[in-house]
Amino acid sequence: MKCSNKECSIDFEPKTHNQKYCSDECCRVATNRRIMEKYYEKKAIRNGAYRECKKCKTQLSRYNQNMICGLCEKNSALKNKSKILGMLDDIS
Ligand SMILES: [Zn+2]
Ligand SMILES: [Zn+2]
Repeated sequence: MKCSNKECSIDFEPKTHNQKYCSDECCRVATNRRIMEKYYEKKAIRNGAYRECKKCKTQLSRYNQNMICGLCEKNSALKNKSKILGMLDDIS
């Protein structure tokens, strides 16, 4: 098992099946970094940083906090819905 802390990345023997870090310290460091990354990401979005939709690459509005545009979100919601409907069809 490799430590999920990128700066550490040492191999360790996990004590529990969901242990991702070699030590509490690595867990703390990685969690802090994730919080900071989120913070800077939000700040960049507020400042109008250029971001594009993960799916169709159109520019995202600075007011859109998602990774995909409204259209793609709508499409994936539709797809999920038809997937569920399809599953229901399978059952009946
Ligand atoms: Zn570590
Ligand atoms: Zn899109």
